[in-house]
Amino acid sequence: MKRGLLRILAVLMLAALVFTGITAAADDETLIVRPSKHNIEIMGKKADLEAYNINGYNYFKLRDVVEALGFYVAWDDALQKITVSDRPVSSGSVFIMIDAGHGGTDAGALSKSTQLYEKDINLSVAEKLSEMLRAEGYIVGMTRTEDETLAVTERMDMILMRRPDLIISVHHNASDDASRSGAYVLCQVDDREGGRTTRLAGFLQEEFENIGQTYLGNVYRRGSRGDYYGLLRAAASVGIPAVITEFAFIDNPTDLKLIDTEEKQEAEARAIYTAVMRFLQSPESEYGASDDTAEGGESGEADEASPDEGGASDDAGTDGEEETDDASDEDDGYDNGYPTWLRP
Ligand SMILES: [Zn+2]
Repeated sequence: MKRGLLRILAVLMLAALVFTGITAAADDETLIVRPSKHNIEIMGKKADLEAYNINGYNYFKLRDVVEALGFYVAWDDALQKITVSDRPVSSGSVFIMIDAGHGGTDAGALSKSTQLYEKDINLSVAEKLSEMLRAEGYIVGMTRTEDETLAVTERMDMILMRRPDLIISVHHNASDDASRSGAYVLCQVDDREGGRTTRLAGFLQEEFENIGQTYLGNVYRRGSRGDYYGLLRAAASVGIPAVITEFAFIDNPTDLKLIDTEEKQEAEARAIYTAVMRFLQSPESEYGASDDTAEGGESGEADEASPDEGGASDDAGTDGEEETDDASDEDDGYDNGYPTWLRP
């Protein structure tokens, strides 16, 4: 983050210099402003920034630059002050990042019977979840808000740059065996014996069960560099709890009935939301809860709530494949790392 902030400072200084230039020019000549295109790359990613050529110099809007860097900018009219920050400006609030899995050319799992794509259900649930959390006063960022292709490495970069307090990645499952059904939560491996993501998974289990879904267990999967899944690994590397929810198997007829309408996706989002609230507001929470509702009195159950973890991770392990999967995971993180029976 330090490095990112240094970049921002450099941008601000440039902006200040630029501003002086404009003022000087305005004194004695007419400003000629023309649109201008530049090929700008930020952290290896092409940035589509509008440039303005003013009297021969190219200028960019500070907001465009800051947002392209993954930061946030706020303007305080009363104080005439610009604030650039690594999180939405409203200090003290918990910042939750919601990741809608897949997107764009990466459709994720597909339900053959209904042509329902995982990427669309993920986004729908993620958006509903975001709205619920925002309504409760939490600050929410999303890795994507439309049907765009986003590599796992890009999602990992977003985590490293924005440093949220909590990450929920919304996915739905598929299997070579269409009879498989039920929900999993993928947790960070260091929490296998208990920890934040295990606690959150306990709440998720209860909430999923409350809306009629069978819970198959928590998945903890270790790769050669820590967490097997890139998203969880990136988050763990900077101490952020992150889970991936796999609420249902999109190609299983029974599970499909839990996700095939807006209302049902709303119910799933509500279940995740309630689990997140319980997680953040339970006594063990290290986060500033947005209110004091101490529903978390039951959190003792959370640790109990994952007795299936052993079985689940064994299931997901598919041992013979592990080496190969790990190798591909080195390159691009998440989905190549899926066990054979879990299609990305
Ligand atoms: Zn997926």
